[in-house]
Amino acid sequence: MADAEFMRRALREAEKAALQEEVPVGAVVVQGGEIVARAHNRPRGLLDPSAHAEILALRRAAKKLGNYRLNGCDLYVTIEPCAMCAGAIIQARLRRLVYGTPDPKAGACGSALEVLNHPKTNHRVEVVSGVLYEESAKILRDFFRCRREKVPGVRCQGLGARGWRSRHQPPVPSP
Ligand code: ZN
Repeated sequence: MADAEFMRRALREAEKAALQEEVPVGAVVVQGGEIVARAHNRPRGLLDPSAHAEILALRRAAKKLGNYRLNGCDLYVTIEPCAMCAGAIIQARLRRLVYGTPDPKAGACGSALEVLNHPKTNHRVEVVSGVLYEESAKILRDFFRCRREKVPGVRCQGLGARGWRSRHQPPVPSP
């Protein structure tokens, strides 16, 4: 499968996160052209600040492969990883990181910080950015817009034709 196909799987994971009112980020770990683990962002649900999609996917992949080093594995994630996740990518010795949209506020793969491939670290990861950039940015944009605009008791419910829709539409003002 091509990078875009794996990224589409990661986007599907991101959708699951949004349905649980988690920031929509999804990740898949690929080895030899096969998905070995997938996960979505769950810090709120798991009450765990480290439960980013990348961390959960790396943990599952390591369990499945029986090795904490994920040599030869690639990580696909919808947004540029943060410093914590970039650190985990180095620890896991991933071969390749493919992400969708850069994160100018917290991205640690060159945007806000340079944790990955920092000159002082030994491990080098091939980084590809901008795969399904539009879709990856849109799901986040729509999620935050929906959260901003929602009235109490109204939840973001899923992707409609024009983005996230609310369970209850706001009442139509009478003339
Ligand atoms: Zn992270």
